[in-house]
Amino acid sequence: MTQSEPKEWLLDEENELRIEVEFDVKVKLRLVTGTAEVFGTELGQNVDYEFSGRKIAVFTWHGCKILVWGTCSVEYIANETPMTSYINMHLALEQRRVLATQNNGQGPRVMIVGPNDVGKTSLSKMLLSYALRQNRQPTYVDLDCSEGSITMPGCLTATPLTEMIDVEEGFGSSATSAPTAGSAVMPLAYYYGFPSPKDNVKLYTLLLNRLAHSVNRRLEEDEAARKSGIIIDTNGLIDATGYEIIANCIKAFSVLGHERLYSDMTRLHQKKAGAAPGAPGVAVIKLAKSGGVVERDNAFRRHTQNQKIREYFYGTSKSELAPYSTNIGYHEVEILRVGEGTLAPSSALPIGEDRKVSETQVVKVEPGEHLLHSVLAVSNADRMVESEILETNLAGFVYISEIHESRKKMILLSPCPGKIPKKYWWLGSLKWAED
Ligand code: ADP
Repeated sequence: MTQSEPKEWLLDEENELRIEVEFDVKVKLRLVTGTAEVFGTELGQNVDYEFSGRKIAVFTWHGCKILVWGTCSVEYIANETPMTSYINMHLALEQRRVLATQNNGQGPRVMIVGPNDVGKTSLSKMLLSYALRQNRQPTYVDLDCSEGSITMPGCLTATPLTEMIDVEEGFGSSATSAPTAGSAVMPLAYYYGFPSPKDNVKLYTLLLNRLAHSVNRRLEEDEAARKSGIIIDTNGLIDATGYEIIANCIKAFSVLGHERLYSDMTRLHQKKAGAAPGAPGVAVIKLAKSGGVVERDNAFRRHTQNQKIREYFYGTSKSELAPYSTNIGYHEVEILRVGEGTLAPSSALPIGEDRKVSETQVVKVEPGEHLLHSVLAVSNADRMVESEILETNLAGFVYISEIHESRKKMILLSPCPGKIPKKYWWLGSLKWAED
């Protein structure tokens, strides 16, 4: 609950108010005078914004007065931020967009790499918001399967953004894969189903390539999106496997349009975190981490994940959704999972069989009690052809709320009413206990 007396914060130009709010606490914030933004999205004057379970910065270019109601676990003003370098980065990208418009070319393709908790997602939001503020339609590619900024954790996604990123909800309201939500453009989502790319590198790479292919095709057809470019948010893996994935991503998304430069870049910058504003002409830019970026522990991540799942089915306090409960028989669906073979020790594989072969093997799973509380991804596929189904995008998600083993039935939550029209559902490692 919020306190009745607000705390007043006066920010000088280029300062930011950093606040952290626990999950069970609500904090209300109001911009009274001046201008301010949260990760690139401008705040409206005298509009109340509510935050819960968030760590944010309210930044001002020209100074402002802010009122805050409620108890923040952390609250302070910082006068040193890397925002000037971030806006300069945006201006450089905008020049590329102008060039792309003049030459009928392609907008910048930026990949943001670095370890976990250095501000990659926050920077992505800023670059996207600044582009949106200039009426661009940038595509946001989220390769961080542990978080699921756009849809659910466990997915690799891409969405052309057309609306401003919501201050309170992040990407939640501007791009959701819930079929009932009024998102302008449906995100492309592929189900990976594991928290880290390391869990099944082969599958991750396959899906990343598939996503890149779909994005490239979509951009060919959409001029405004093509000229606006792509912002790619990556996972925080920066060991040898991580580099391999980054190198593959650069290639798949043509972040660097030149083969030799691409190999030079991967060789030269293997130890650096940076971003590349895309072809033609390549740049690798090292950007400073903001002092405000907060390290998130496992409990916080798990909480964020739960919140994300909850929002998928129930919406947020601002835009509530009422999910539908549906009763279906075991025989009505085919539940699949990938890479069962990864669990088998090499010694258990037939002689001569490459362990990796089984990493993308599709395995049928018998429905049963073990599905209780699982979140399953509904594939858009209409038939089960192993090579196709893996690369088919998602229609949405369902949550198994009850299992009636004796009657061979399950009760599930879904954002749409009635029977789910698609029968192939992916089982990953995502579980959720409704609260
Ligand atoms: P990464 O994507 O590299 O893992 P994030 O961008 O998600 O990192 O940032 C980690 C956490 O720090 C997030 O909760 C984010 O909201 C928070 N954060 C980022 N920048 C700031 C800042 N300037 N002030 C306060 N919190 C911040």
